[in-house]
Amino acid sequence: MADGRVQGKVAVITGGARGIGAEIGKVLTAEGATVVVADLAPADGVPATAGGGTAGYRQVDVTDEKSVRVAFDDIAATYGRIDVLVNNAGVPGPIKPSHEVEEKEYDLLFAVDVKGVWLCTKHAVRHMLGQGGGSIINMSSIYGLVGGARIPLYHAAKGAVRLMTKADAATYAKASIRVNSVHPGSIETELSKSLSADPSPEAAAYAQRMLDSTPVGHRGTPEDIAYGVLYLASDESRFVTGTELVVDGGYTAV
Ligand code: NAD
Repeated sequence: MADGRVQGKVAVITGGARGIGAEIGKVLTAEGATVVVADLAPADGVPATAGGGTAGYRQVDVTDEKSVRVAFDDIAATYGRIDVLVNNAGVPGPIKPSHEVEEKEYDLLFAVDVKGVWLCTKHAVRHMLGQGGGSIINMSSIYGLVGGARIPLYHAAKGAVRLMTKADAATYAKASIRVNSVHPGSIETELSKSLSADPSPEAAAYAQRMLDSTPVGHRGTPEDIAYGVLYLASDESRFVTGTELVVDGGYTAV
């Protein structure tokens, strides 16, 4: 049921062409926001339903400053402002111990998951400062809160997102720009499928371990994450900045 919880806000969602980002687009649109998806995928490759009737689409590579700057300036010029930025684009990186990771694999992971968050924040903040505030929501992970042996560099990248969030929250609080992070547990998407697609016994054991470690006993859905983002995007969370919203079925509670 829609109550206009983000009525009139202009929201940019990176990585919104599919998965968690697409569901965030649907929920924010249903609650009254004008949503613009910014994704590496070309618009013509994205199903028409992605984003649930979102207002706009820009092909953006979050690792490339020019691409980000041009898109954010264009979005602000087209829609008049940027009230909400959801830094959701992310890649899982290599499923390997640190000593086996190639430099180019490290560079790509940190370029998307860490530099991308910084670049989009940088170019959204320029507009938010001029308009008197905004809300930035950074997609970290439960893996940004705890360590783990399977994809160690992803933990490192998502941990960086957690602290970039807190530092930016402190930096921009006086300018009424709130910055919070969201930490999903295991959510059914293409990204999580890629982590369990590997037919090895280790991958099956990993998937089972994730489930066994989740007290509610099942994986989450993109919608579970989208409702957390909705709260942080809305003015209901006006006193909330620098926080980490964990949405994980209890994984990190035990
Ligand atoms: P997904 O792979 O389904 O979607 C990611 C989107 O990001 C894609 O549309 C892709 O095109 C886009 N993207 C990738 N690189 C990009 C770039 N350079 N520039 C612009 N867009 C780019 O992933 P998802 O599962 O929906 O994950 C979304 C976010 O949630 C990610 O940050 C991920 O790390 C995080 N997360 C996911 C889970 C999970 O279980 N699925 C758990 C915790 C955190």
